[in-house]
Amino acid sequence: MKYTIMTPGPTDVKENVMFSRAEKCTNPDLDLEFYDFYKETCDKIGKLLHTKNRVRILSGEGILGLEAACASLTENNDRVLVIDNGIYGEGFKDFVNMYGGNPILFKGNRGKAIDINELKLFLDKDSNFKYATVVHCDTPSGVLNNIEEICKLLKSKGILTVVDTVSAMIGEEVKIDEWGIDIALGGSQKAISAPPGLSIVTISDDAINVMKNRKQPIAGFYCNLLIWENYYENKWFPYTMPISDIKGLATAIDNILDEGIENVISRHSNIGNAVRKTIIDAGLELNIIESDNSNTVTVVKIPEGICCNKLLKILREKYNVFIAGSFGYLENKVLRIGHMGESARVDKVAYTLLSLEMTLKEVGFQCKVDLSKTFLSYL
Ligand SMILES: *Cc1c(COP(=O)(O)O)cnc(C)c1O
Repeated sequence: MKYTIMTPGPTDVKENVMFSRAEKCTNPDLDLEFYDFYKETCDKIGKLLHTKNRVRILSGEGILGLEAACASLTENNDRVLVIDNGIYGEGFKDFVNMYGGNPILFKGNRGKAIDINELKLFLDKDSNFKYATVVHCDTPSGVLNNIEEICKLLKSKGILTVVDTVSAMIGEEVKIDEWGIDIALGGSQKAISAPPGLSIVTISDDAINVMKNRKQPIAGFYCNLLIWENYYENKWFPYTMPISDIKGLATAIDNILDEGIENVISRHSNIGNAVRKTIIDAGLELNIIESDNSNTVTVVKIPEGICCNKLLKILREKYNVFIAGSFGYLENKVLRIGHMGESARVDKVAYTLLSLEMTLKEVGFQCKVDLSKTFLSYL
């Protein structure tokens, strides 16, 4: 693999994670030790996220968790608050619709984080919602929402909270129990730095009780979060577990525990901060106001007259660097440098910035400073 992977997911994967995935397989349904291994891995994830809630690792890329949360909570005509200041934020309305619910959108400004006072005013008028969805880092734009404030406010109104923290978890702090997150959603391929294929879901007692007290049964099996109840006691998984994926994930989690979650989070904030400052010094523009940008991805406006695909192609073919464009309303307008998980390492980011500077120069944009040098000076 010749590429430096600097996309906002999938991220770079460490060698020991790859080796774990290559280990001999057992039969995960029959091997009782595998139930312990699965449970211990879930417990470690719970520790990283500061929660005593149930933790589940589902076999399916991050989107499965988003759909499973909506499938398991939504009944016909349920009113669901969809907090929308980005593409993933808005996207929850489709899952709510699919399962018969009635999504009501709270629309924020797409250039900054959700304004807590505006949300409070909105909820003072109407707080009759079964649950609310919110995205921690809305990856296409790079905005980071303050899920602590948002979830505490929602819980004070008796609303269940569903948080998509797929692209923030591990790179940004998440305190599930203290902040009142009923369902938190993550994926293996972002800051955790395992390959894509697994969703991580944490579920509170409140959320489980709502699921158990439904009038209509949950539509679907794969997305039904209740089928996991007592899997450990009964030694029964709803379907055969992807054992190699889970072994890889467990090693990636151990890597994080070995480094220490506080160190991992401060590594992300140091790098995120230095990249943002460098981009500004270069005479480029951030897509989101600096204070509201996630530490896991920097989204940069493409200077007038420059073709996004051409930039990405030069970076790929000449420098072996993968960064991303974006989609939806941001298509062809921004570049996204993912610095999450194992991609958030000084050497990789410095090389990426150097490559970006050379590429921009080739297409006619001269940066005002030496990007890699400036980046290093901010660390
Ligand atoms: C990556 C991501 C997901 C998972 O979906 P993909 O198919 O990998 O895009 C979900 N939510 C957010 C915010 C993400 O960044």
